Amino acid sequence: METIRQNTVKTRKPHHCWGCAEEYPTGTTMDVVVSKDMGKLESTYFCDICESVLSHWNSSERSDGIGYGELKENDPRWEDTKNELRSA
Ligand SMILES: [Zn+2]
Repeated sequence: METIRQNTVKTRKPHHCWGCAEEYPTGTTMDVVVSKDMGKLESTYFCDICESVLSHWNSSERSDGIGYGELKENDPRWEDTKNELRSA
């Protein structure tokens, strides 16, 4: 899989975050990663919590890839980060 681009958008419809599997409503600021897989373009959405957790990962952790919802399930920093961001 090859990453084509990554940018920050304000969503125009509800999207599930790939990292935590939470649904975020229209108008949420999310990161979109567009990648090419077997000639098909795929868009993956990440919320601010997951982006923040991912920023602590090193490149070898990232290159292993993330399954749907795994960031929240497997990384104890997710809940901490959520509390931090949402209490601000
Ligand atoms: Zn998320």
